[in-house]
Amino acid sequence: MSEDFLRRMHHAAAAARAAAAAIAAVGDPVRLAADSVMDKGAAGPATVADLAGQVAAIRALRSAEGPRCRIMAEESLDEVDRLGGDALVERVVRALQDAGLALSRDEVRDTLAAGIDAGGADGECWALDPLDGTKGYLRGGQFAIAVGLLRDGVPVAGAVAAPRLAVRSTDAGAGVVFLAAAGQGAWQEELLAASGGARTPVRARPWSRGDAIRLGGSVERAHSASDALEAAASALGPVVPVRVDSQAKYALVARGDADAYVRRSPSPGYRECAWDHVAGALVAREAGCTVTDVHGRPMDFGGGRRLAASEGVLCAAPGLHAALLAALGG
Ligand SMILES: [Mg+2]
Repeated sequence: MSEDFLRRMHHAAAAARAAAAAIAAVGDPVRLAADSVMDKGAAGPATVADLAGQVAAIRALRSAEGPRCRIMAEESLDEVDRLGGDALVERVVRALQDAGLALSRDEVRDTLAAGIDAGGADGECWALDPLDGTKGYLRGGQFAIAVGLLRDGVPVAGAVAAPRLAVRSTDAGAGVVFLAAAGQGAWQEELLAASGGARTPVRARPWSRGDAIRLGGSVERAHSASDALEAAASALGPVVPVRVDSQAKYALVARGDADAYVRRSPSPGYRECAWDHVAGALVAREAGCTVTDVHGRPMDFGGGRRLAASEGVLCAAPGLHAALLAALGG
């Protein structure tokens, strides 16, 4: 079983790398043409890079796992047809060509549509976010590619690629992939290293009362929400905000560059998307963190594409989770 999780972890990493290569082939996001971006309203923007990444990752997963593997991916063909149309599909075709994947329009459309699985608590299903943190991507901030495998609603293998981070936090961002397998641990390796390159374990840094709390939060969230969280956490020690786009926040806590990642619901009744959390939460947990929702309940990934029974996220280093949960009034 554990060897199987490791094998599947490598499938996740291969898919994340394929998506990263497709995203890189799109070029400088600042120069994206207007018809390369679609506005999904409250769900934010999606670009030719999100779509090319999804196609590349799904192809890699199917090649490693077989053509019938179940995938719940963020982007939907319906939305592309409604908001982007043929011009956007054509841009995806060209980006994939530049990444070395020669696909027809129909092949691109069919592959995009293959990510429509409903997830749930039975069997195996992949959760794929081909480009998490699209606003960060467009702004020159962090973004991530997240690929995680659920077995009966439980994360068992995953990878989070962060093309603008580095293996060492002091280095310029040449890209890193975080990997995890349930019960086996968490690791990081260079994004561009051929498989088999140096893989090093990542461990969260234990926190003790009075230590500073490096508190990971979103760049995009309303400042008032961040300020309230930081004020509440400051009961435990001095708070150092770490505002980073995407689920790279999980990875930063996992490798000891932050102490916690807290995300409250952006609006009442909002439920998190599975692909925003499956891989990142597994990396953090395997690195020694505790990951729950903001009420301290285990994250429930068995509810489908949305985490119907969980609210927000509280991911914290060893020693910090219970204290932070109490301080935040969870
Ligand atoms: Mg996304």
